[in-house]
Amino acid sequence: MNFFVQRSELRDLYDKVVTGERISEADALRLFESKDLNTLGTIADLARQKKAGNRASYIINRYLNYSNYCILSCQFCSFARKKRDADGFELTIPQMVERAREALELGITELHIVGGLHPSLPFSYYTDMLKALSALDSRLQLKCFTAIEILHLAWLAKKSVEQTLRELKDAGLESLTGGGAEIFRKEVRSAIAKGKESAGEYLDVHRTWHRLGGRSTCTMLFGHVESLADRVDHLRQLRALQDETRGFVGFVPLPYQPENNDIPVKTPPTGFDALRTIAVSRIYLDNFDHITAYWVGLGLKLAQVALSYGADDLHGTIIEEHIFHMAGATSPQLQTEAEMIKAIREAGRTPVQRNTFYEPIKVFADGHPPTANEAEPPSGKSKVLEDNLATA
Ligand code: SF4
Repeated sequence: MNFFVQRSELRDLYDKVVTGERISEADALRLFESKDLNTLGTIADLARQKKAGNRASYIINRYLNYSNYCILSCQFCSFARKKRDADGFELTIPQMVERAREALELGITELHIVGGLHPSLPFSYYTDMLKALSALDSRLQLKCFTAIEILHLAWLAKKSVEQTLRELKDAGLESLTGGGAEIFRKEVRSAIAKGKESAGEYLDVHRTWHRLGGRSTCTMLFGHVESLADRVDHLRQLRALQDETRGFVGFVPLPYQPENNDIPVKTPPTGFDALRTIAVSRIYLDNFDHITAYWVGLGLKLAQVALSYGADDLHGTIIEEHIFHMAGATSPQLQTEAEMIKAIREAGRTPVQRNTFYEPIKVFADGHPPTANEAEPPSGKSKVLEDNLATA
């Protein structure tokens, strides 16, 4: 233990992490309220190291939005459009397939697909899309739809959430995305996403998906009108569901982007706020294996620093990001694999190319490109998932 931790007001929480004792919500709030970022980072880095050792991962993926038409008008959203808007779009399934084909040539292992809550596309559009994309390459993993989209599709198709998920899974869906969580507390949700389904409904979709053997990620949109206590409440609900299902493979804190929306907050979260949120998440979510530093919202430089503040993953190459960039993100639209590897190595970690379930595809020896022995054969499909699906 270094001198500064010994003398820090957070020393008792460092000791809890050392001994593996779970921290409470009151402890998490103390961490959030502390100005001692160095000690917070030290504690988070210890928690990270216990989970991930010296590895830090990235994924080669492509984002694909099938449409930005949406029946809701969340106040924080800069992405959604109405049918009357000139810059609204929706892709046909052949257009989706074409873009996926191009991305496969770049080596992607995952398509990350979300859209707005489209007013009229039939349920068969979604199942046909999944079937067409999963037929392209057996190694390609389809991570699609927020829990909010799933609720919308169930409503459109007049099916239960469970039946909707079963049919999407049969068509090729492998993982749900984590979007739509925002902040769970009702008052904040009404202020930033009026009309959106509740926290309970969001969590129930993930619970059902996990019960069917599926895996998913989850998120928290931070740095707008919520309080630090609201963030703790959000993390509390995620940790409780994870205790119940163990179905989340990773947590992705998303820094709010302020442009082109109706929230009266005109600055994005600071670097200090982003790092402390990642750090507290790592320490509090002791039942999550992975915390992602989302470079699109943070910028790659800050995401790289976050690898020493609790994060063990930099997310993906992405190729074409709309949602954060329409809200003012100034990061590039994509990262190359080489840039992500460089960022990880500079941070002193061993780069690992991962699949959708954070399982390693390729492990790089420190300072060198992978040799034939280091490279594990690309396996798009998760053994964990396949086993679970077989018994579901
Ligand atoms: S956040 Fe999602 S549900 Fe809300 S308006 Fe935007 S696209 Fe629609």
